[in-house]
Amino acid sequence: MRVLIVEDNEAIARDIGEHLEQAGYVVDYAFDGEEADFKGFTEDYDAVILDLGLPKVDGLTVLRNWRAEGRTFPVLVLTARGSWQERVAGIDAGGDDYVVKPFEMEEVLARLRAIIRRSRGLASPIIRIGPLELDTRAARAILHGKALDLTPLEYRLLGYLAHHQERAVPRMELMEHIYEGDTDRNPNTLDVLVGRLRRKIGPGFIQTRRGHGYMLVNPEGENSCA
Ligand code: CA
Repeated sequence: MRVLIVEDNEAIARDIGEHLEQAGYVVDYAFDGEEADFKGFTEDYDAVILDLGLPKVDGLTVLRNWRAEGRTFPVLVLTARGSWQERVAGIDAGGDDYVVKPFEMEEVLARLRAIIRRSRGLASPIIRIGPLELDTRAARAILHGKALDLTPLEYRLLGYLAHHQERAVPRMELMEHIYEGDTDRNPNTLDVLVGRLRRKIGPGFIQTRRGHGYMLVNPEGENSCA
């Protein structure tokens, strides 16, 4: 999952970013409204954390522009304490939820998980694929009741596929959402990673769709032969 953090206070931004990285997200930053506007239009994010008080272009304007142009990624708005008007304006501009400053990082993480899974039509923080369970709260995968020993990158790969079970995910898209920065975006590296993950979770879960990408399926389900 790739998340954009928009916050002009760099210390707060980095603090949120570190917690997100520990929780298994890939993080990008924008420190003013102009940069946020640009990144929101050029990158494909799984979610955005957006402070409203920003230099150059304010957060509400940025959010309205994104929504007016059909950018549908879920947005968690950061608002000032006591300003109910700002919270209402944030939701009306297209925000999916908000957190009031100063906030507890656990609340930011929980609300972020919730808006991401709702954007994928998932109701529960635990995603089930047959005997495989992803606990998105703990960034943990469990197979037949036993916790799997996955690297953060393997978990990010599995997590992204689990949030997109209904389709084959192209390799370029996968690379954009699981790798930090612009490094390592090599299809062969991705194929090796998929191979490692397959060995850990067992065959059948990750199907290769020629020309389309990778698709996560329940190997015990009726769609497994599709
Ligand atoms: Ca601010």
